[in-house]
Amino acid sequence: MTVAAEIFNKIKEYQTIIIHRHQNADPDALGSQGGLAEIIRDNFPDKKVVTVGKDTLGLKWLLQADEVLDELYQDALVIVTDTANTPRIDDERYLKGKYLIKIDHHPDDDPYGDLSLVNPEASSCSEIIFDLAQANQLKISQKAASLLYTGIVGDTGRFMYDCTTPHTLKVAAQLMQTGIDCTKINRKIDEISLAEAKLAAYAYQNLKLTEHRAAYLVVNRQIMTELGVNNTAKIVSLPGKISEVLCWALIVEQEDGSYRLRLRSKQPVINELAKEYDGGGHPLASGAKLPSAAGIEQFVTKLDQVAAKFMEEN
Ligand code: AMP
Repeated sequence: MTVAAEIFNKIKEYQTIIIHRHQNADPDALGSQGGLAEIIRDNFPDKKVVTVGKDTLGLKWLLQADEVLDELYQDALVIVTDTANTPRIDDERYLKGKYLIKIDHHPDDDPYGDLSLVNPEASSCSEIIFDLAQANQLKISQKAASLLYTGIVGDTGRFMYDCTTPHTLKVAAQLMQTGIDCTKINRKIDEISLAEAKLAAYAYQNLKLTEHRAAYLVVNRQIMTELGVNNTAKIVSLPGKISEVLCWALIVEQEDGSYRLRLRSKQPVINELAKEYDGGGHPLASGAKLPSAAGIEQFVTKLDQVAAKFMEEN
């Protein structure tokens, strides 16, 4: 039996299904989670299907999670989408269910769950959810299609990043055929507020380039407060527009004085470096952490070395 068929059987078996995603949810986390929830609701109207997780500012239009009481977990099937490792799962109660399924597209460095469907070749977890539905001949409503399409657009940078495959475009075409408003979704994903536009201006003004074409930007609390922005999601891809830049990092100060590292790359593989800093992710899009500002200089040196090695070999 295929894993897709096994997952289908588990969905049929359980009356209550609780779907989790990763912390700091992005469009693919929300799209895959919400899309899967909608598909199950549409195809099994008698089941109770809920989604769990903290809202992401600026993405509430995409999905708002349900209020879920602890008791609901007792006899529930729990499915986690788009989350590579257990510490990143939003809401620890995922452990309280009866059976756990992982569905993801990150490298499977931390396998978990009683059953797992992981495809690192997929552009996004939303693409995997579409394939799962198709494999089991489940109908996909416009609401589900909008969520999945948004997830794919989010993780492929509107079909620009190299995770985009011919299959990704075929999936997007089939989602579009349901009659969803793709233009509206594309625009919504691309939209920035005036405050975010000012943060973008700050980013371009203050971005530093190392000797070997790695770029980095430190975003401290002060500038975020001054501009009234609380998220760097809309500026993380900007350094990639610059021809001189090979790979880059946003080094974002957190409320507790630690730093979130957001790493991106055009070609040099950066997820190994992310792993050195308590993180991980995809070869060209990763995240990690720095306990304090004291580690920034060393991190930048290592990022420069990644770029230098790539230049030497290519
Ligand atoms: P971000 O910069 O937060 O958008 O993250 C980019 C990619 O790296 C995402 O696919 C995340 O799943 C992954 N990632 C981010 N932070 C971490 C972390 N602390 N540990 C493992 N993977 C991460």
